Parts: sequence; C-alpha cells; structure tokens
Amino acid sequence: MKVLVTGGAGYIGSHTIKSLKNEGIDTLTFDNLSTGHKWALLGEKLFVGDLADIEAINKAIVYFKPDAVIHFAASIQVGESVVNPLLYYSNNVKNTINLLNAMIKNNVNKIVFSSSAAVYGIPKDNNPVKETCQTLPINPYGQTKLMIEKILSDMAFANQIEYIALRYFNAAGADKDAQIGQAYKFATHLITRALKTAKGKFEKLEIYGTDYPTPDGTCIRDYIHVDDLAFAHLLSLKALFNNTKNEAFNVGYSNGYSVKEVINKVKEVTKIDFKVVEAKRRQGDPAYLVASNDKIKELLKWEPKYNNLEYIIQTAWEWEKKLSYYGA
Ligand code: UDP
Repeated sequence: MKVLVTGGAGYIGSHTIKSLKNEGIDTLTFDNLSTGHKWALLGEKLFVGDLADIEAINKAIVYFKPDAVIHFAASIQVGESVVNPLLYYSNNVKNTINLLNAMIKNNVNKIVFSSSAAVYGIPKDNNPVKETCQTLPINPYGQTKLMIEKILSDMAFANQIEYIALRYFNAAGADKDAQIGQAYKFATHLITRALKTAKGKFEKLEIYGTDYPTPDGTCIRDYIHVDDLAFAHLLSLKALFNNTKNEAFNVGYSNGYSVKEVINKVKEVTKIDFKVVEAKRRQGDPAYLVASNDKIKELLKWEPKYNNLEYIIQTAWEWEKKLSYYGA
C-alpha cells in the first residue's frame, strides 16, 4: 500500500510514518517544513511542497499514485488562531479543499484526517465525551477542524470520498527509541513546557488556573501516548479498505490527569524540583476534557498500549534531553 502523508515531518505525522514503515507501508510525505523537520522522517521519502500550491499537490499525487492519504498538515496553535483566524481558515480549510480537489482529480478517494477534541469546545458535563456529543468549538482552530469534518461528510454523502476523522485528545510522549519526538519552536503544551522547565529552558512553569471545579482545582486532560495515536492511523487506513468509513473517532484513554498531577509526575520522573507558580486561567480551557473511547475500540479494535503517565513522561524526557544536543 502507498500512502501520501501531508505534514508527515511533524510530531504525530513522523511517529505515524515510523509505525507505517514497520508494517511495510510505503509513504511519501508532502510537507512545507514550516514546523516539521526532514530528519523526523528517518529516511522516508519527502516532497517539499505547500498545500496552498495546487500544482505541487497534483504533481506529488501523479508521481506517487497513492492508494490513500493521511492528512496531518495544519496550523495547530489555539491562541494564534484567535489572533489570526484567517491564517487558520486558509491553512486548514482552504488548503484541505486544495488537497481534496487534487485527490478527486486523480481518483484517490480514501483519507484519514487529523481532527481534534477542540471540536467539542467546552463539554457540558464532566463525563468522558462521546462522538455523539454536541460539537461547539470555541476558537477558530477548533472551527477549522469541524468544518473539514463537515466537508468530508458531505463529500462522502456524494460518494466522492471515504474518510475517517480522528479526534485527538492530548498527544504526548515520544518514540521509545528517542529517534523522534516533539520539536516545535514554541512549546505551549503542558508536558513539554514542564520538561523544558526541568531542564532549565524556562525559569518557571505557570499553572493556568487553580479554581476549576475539579478535585485539586486544576484542569483535567486525557494525555495519550503518540505511538497509540499513530497506531490509530494504521487501523483507520486498514478500516477504509475493509469498509468501516465515514466516521469520526475520539482517540484518548478515557482517563485524565490534572495539571498538578502531571507536574508532580514530571518532577518524579526527572528528579528535578523546578519552580511552579499559580497563574490566572488561560482563555477557553474546559475544566475537564476526557475521551470516551468505546467507539474506536469497538469499530477499529484499537487497544491502548501505553496508558501510563509515567511512560509518557519518561519517553518525552528522554527525547527532550536528546533535543538539548541540537541546542533546542
Ligand atoms: N497548562 C498549564 N501551564 C502550561 C501549559 C498548559 O497550566 O504552561 C494547562 C492548560 O491550561 C490545560 C492543560 O495544561 O489545562 C493542558 O494544556 P495543553 O496546552 O497541554 O493542551 P490543550 O488541552 O490546551 O490542548
């Protein structure tokens, strides 16, 4: 099988490519390298191009003749999407339309799409959120992910495309061999920021809000190891060739940890007692966001292998220490 992977040089993309390679699946990554890295492909093929460039996408598809596409490429910073919404509607929605047009033109009709728990916005209750829950994004980033899901669903109805959308919860951790991991210029995610604080990159770690209606007052999230997330893509691809299609799935563990619990675990794993301060709430954070994963377990037979916060943090820490060698 041949798979075109947009954004394959990024964090989740590169872990997925590694797991596809282990299954003997041939990939071509289409990436503009704006935030991704060539080294993250571990030698797999790369076509440097931008999804805004319709000719480039067409060229990559004509050259590679993929059987399916996995579409990771997107702008992913919630805060930036609020400040610069048009960038998000262009990079995410418009560029995905370019990709879909090129696919249709070349008779490629299977796509796995990187969606997000951000499509839910602020869920009404503190229960694991099901795919059937109301989708009401509260920022442009989440809006773009939901819009693309709707486009895919309408195209599926018109028999133009077969898709699976994966709604990621909090991707974290790194490859067990520490060959790849998160390497963004601007680290905003909790575990990454905590680890960078532990290694002295930041002077202190801020807790964004300690007055939430949760047991310790800090927000609860469902942190999922990136290799379990990568595996969900492999199963989605297989499912598309076996007739499970046109569905959205949550990908998470169905259990959550508070910000304080995560910080304590980071201190325990790194054995470094870094400075932590309480700060005000960050805008748009739900108190509790945990995935119901019944659907993906039932329909895709996905089973988590790394549902262990310590392992997630340990692998991320090994990677973070290695990143220091590159000056990051
Ligand atoms: N968070 C925090 N300090 C940080 C970064 C994040 O307290 O330096 C909190 C954030 O408010 C949220 C949780 O950690 O409640 C997870 O945030 P992250 O940005 O990692 O992922 P998100 O859930 O926003 O996708």
